[in-house]
Amino acid sequence: MTNASVTFQPSRAIPYGRQHITEDDIQAVTDTLRSDFLTQGPKVAEFEEKFAAYIGAKYAVAVSNGTAALHLCTLALGVQPGQRVITTPITFAASANCVLYGGGEVHFADIDPATALIDLQQVRRLLESHPRGHFHGLIPVDFAGLPVNMEAARALADEFGLWLIEDACHAPGGFFLDSAGNEQRCGNGNFADLAIFSFHPVKHIATGEGGMITTNRPDLYEKLLMLRTHGITKNPAQLQQNPGGWYYEMQTLGYNYRMPDMLTALGISQLQRADAGIARRRALAARYDAAFAGMPPIRSLATESGHAYHLYVIQIEDRKGLYDFLRERQIFAQVHYIPVHTMPYYQQLGWKNGDFPHAEAYYAHCLSLPMFPDLTDEEQQYVIDCVREFIVK
Ligand SMILES: *Cc1c(COP(=O)(O)O)cnc(C)c1O
Repeated sequence: MTNASVTFQPSRAIPYGRQHITEDDIQAVTDTLRSDFLTQGPKVAEFEEKFAAYIGAKYAVAVSNGTAALHLCTLALGVQPGQRVITTPITFAASANCVLYGGGEVHFADIDPATALIDLQQVRRLLESHPRGHFHGLIPVDFAGLPVNMEAARALADEFGLWLIEDACHAPGGFFLDSAGNEQRCGNGNFADLAIFSFHPVKHIATGEGGMITTNRPDLYEKLLMLRTHGITKNPAQLQQNPGGWYYEMQTLGYNYRMPDMLTALGISQLQRADAGIARRRALAARYDAAFAGMPPIRSLATESGHAYHLYVIQIEDRKGLYDFLRERQIFAQVHYIPVHTMPYYQQLGWKNGDFPHAEAYYAHCLSLPMFPDLTDEEQQYVIDCVREFIVK
């Protein structure tokens, strides 16, 4: 290990994640501004079709953001008071909050420390410690872009009569290998009833705000279309009567969770670069892996060929020290995540520190390093050099 001081000076602050916007993206958005449609024009359906094809799912429903996607999924699956749903404590709060919106109860199962994904053995233990029918659903999260084995999750869900929502916000384009050795893309609907994605600027496909639900189930697809737009339908096949062309019916209580044409046009443009983006993320991860393999105080999370690398997470004893050290050098690493059950709101619901020791131990030491497609090789080397400088100092 060399003690040579770091000489490269970054020309910009380096965040943990950021969007990549090209002139083509800008053109796509301005084209919609000149068109007849700002919202709910042809770009919405085009984005849905192309996204479904990319993910390998039958249906896709574009919505206003990833949280709205989760909310509509729980509504479509009938979450209501008295229902209990299991998710992971290491996720963004929305993965759990969506259960509360409909009056359901959130429960957690601890993570596997090697992957930081929900541990399906812990889920099984929780399920087996209650009578059948006690729990209603499971929301696994492809945390950091590492795909949950949804085939295993489905088998467990079927054994205990649960529905399954895959929170795939971190993993569009990621895949796991099923028991037959086939690639199964995250959110392809072969195992989960519904899957959700976000197009927040730090995610793989960035539209500012935006989200998508994918499914292979026509019944849920029809419900989602109605719930996305106030519970209203104009589809002649669904109307109870049809007195004229103006007529529509509000058949259930829905929301305005639509994604506008301006943003879906941006999504379509971004989707064309999705594979290139993942390839770059995987190349960056491989360089980090190689660099940190020779730095014992730094531990990386387990990896797999289908990892989509939304985040590159390391673990280090003195996490706060490294976080502050990097900040002083214009590197804005971040912590993903503060365990949901330790949030004040969830503590009011009765969860306590100590409930999920693996999640809490992971949180104490985790740090997400810069990981985004237009991070340059020089910038990444600078990050690696700064981490090295911190551990040898
Ligand atoms: C970003 C994210 C969400 C929420 O998506 P928004 O578009 O920000 O509402 C939900 N779950 C996970 C895991 C996320 O990373």
